[in-house]
Amino acid sequence: MAYVGTIPVLVTHSNIEGGIWPSGTANISQDPLVENEAEGDLRLLTGSPRIDAANNPVEIVPFRGEYYELIESRRSLVKNLIYPVPDPRFPFLGVHFTRMIGGGVEAGPNAVLSFKRDGYDRFNVSLRDCLSIASFAGSWRMMAKHWRMGLGEWHRSLSKRAFVTGLQKLIPQVTASDLKRAGSGVRAQAVEKTGALADDFRIIEHQNFIHVLNAPSPAATASLSIGEYIAKRAETQFAIDD
Ligand SMILES: Cc1cc2nc3c(=O)[nH]c(=O)nc-3n(C[C@H](O)[C@H](O)[C@H](O)COP(=O)(O)OP(=O)(O)OC[C@H]3O[C@@H](n4cnc5c(N)ncnc54)[C@H](O)[C@@H]3O)c2cc1C
Repeated sequence: MAYVGTIPVLVTHSNIEGGIWPSGTANISQDPLVENEAEGDLRLLTGSPRIDAANNPVEIVPFRGEYYELIESRRSLVKNLIYPVPDPRFPFLGVHFTRMIGGGVEAGPNAVLSFKRDGYDRFNVSLRDCLSIASFAGSWRMMAKHWRMGLGEWHRSLSKRAFVTGLQKLIPQVTASDLKRAGSGVRAQAVEKTGALADDFRIIEHQNFIHVLNAPSPAATASLSIGEYIAKRAETQFAIDD
């Protein structure tokens, strides 16, 4: 066991260039071969010794969630939050109506596989991000399982009429002319090697790290509780006094 000060620390699967961690398995000391360290682009180049050297069980796959909003004269259709009954096979709820604090009403989001990690627009594509998704076996397993739903989401992304049909299951009176396009967000969705979409918070601990691997909805609502949980774990894990 190695020590940091008086704290015993076991590190596994690390790569410290120019020095090796003295204990634990699968620690290496090599140039990690990243894209552009000076500009903060830490993606691994082909041939990097870090590729497949870790024990990370999940990979992040981006899913864009697109919104419409009700035009002002039709906001009265929605007096509260209106949600569908969730399908437990999927981590995404399906489109719903959300009354916002400023008085507006959002309709959405869908859940479309994004071709760019920060792909807030439907037509954003990053070849590198596509390669990263395509080189993860879990992505293909996920697509094999959920291709029908995935195509449906793309259809609802490209066709306003299809999006509106989804919303009409909740409010039959809503029409396309009641809605205008609004913003979008990208979910950093953890996908298992099996292709399963991780649908719960995933917080893992090693002796000197606490990693938040998956923070899906409702992580915004639960953010204070998650923060408290991590702070408590850190107090125990790192023997921090109040
Ligand atoms: C469409 C959509 C709908 C959602 N609906 C809900 C909901 O109804 N209720 C709910 O509770 N949750 C909802 N969520 C989920 C919620 O928004 C996320 O789970 C939550 O924001 C995750 O928090 P986070 O701190 O992990 O990440 P984020 O909130 O994404 O924060 C990460 C921050 O790090 C910054 N960052 C990233 N990379 C770098 C870098 N290299 N250097 C510096 N800064 C960087 C980003 O700009 C960002 O500000 C929704 C998410 C989406 C996408």
